[in-house]
Amino acid sequence: MNPELEALLALQADDNAVMELERRGRELDGRLTVLDRERQAMLEAIERSRQALADEEKRQRELAGKVQDHKHLQERNVAALDAVRKPREAAAAMSQIELTRKVLAQEESDLHGLSSRLQDMRQGLQLQEMELGEADERQRAARDEVAAARAELDRELEQARGKRAESAARVPRATLTRYERIRGRRKSDAVFALRGAACGNCNTAIPLQRRNIIAGGRSIDVCEGCGVLLYAAS
Ligand SMILES: [Zn+2]
Repeated sequence: MNPELEALLALQADDNAVMELERRGRELDGRLTVLDRERQAMLEAIERSRQALADEEKRQRELAGKVQDHKHLQERNVAALDAVRKPREAAAAMSQIELTRKVLAQEESDLHGLSSRLQDMRQGLQLQEMELGEADERQRAARDEVAAARAELDRELEQARGKRAESAARVPRATLTRYERIRGRRKSDAVFALRGAACGNCNTAIPLQRRNIIAGGRSIDVCEGCGVLLYAAS
């Protein structure tokens, strides 16, 4: 085999090895993204629960304030009833007391309902926080695994890139430039063997005369159909 072609095929193999390692790197990134999203979703759910809890606690404070106000009002109503002398005034004062009593009863019942809802919400929040803790524990193992794979992959990549650089140095400059341009465009193999009388990539028939030149190993030719470099497999 022509040494230029041999160097080119070695380079292509090295490039494919680097590409495969980079693909595995993206796969590891993807696994981390899944873990991050899972955790983020849990954090957001906890934040929503905290906000809902804070809103209800605010309502509870407001309602407790109203109950206090109406209790004071009721004390004044009772004092007013004690002070009246005329029956008509007594009837008015009593109906005021009855009205306030009803309002207070409703508010106290609302407050009671709110308290038990708040208790449920706090328990729910606690559960979510426990689940986050468990998920973190689970994720730690998965993240350790990804980190170990990443470290190993980085070592392999460094080696593969070094090997690739050595191979590239053995390819003549002009051929290397052509190869890299084609590879950059296709993001995959740039050099193909003839398959019978046709390009091994796109199957375009190659005229006999050019085929003979390729087969003679005198030149690494370009396919007019798809633009890859062609060689004759021996
Ligand atoms: Zn082709």
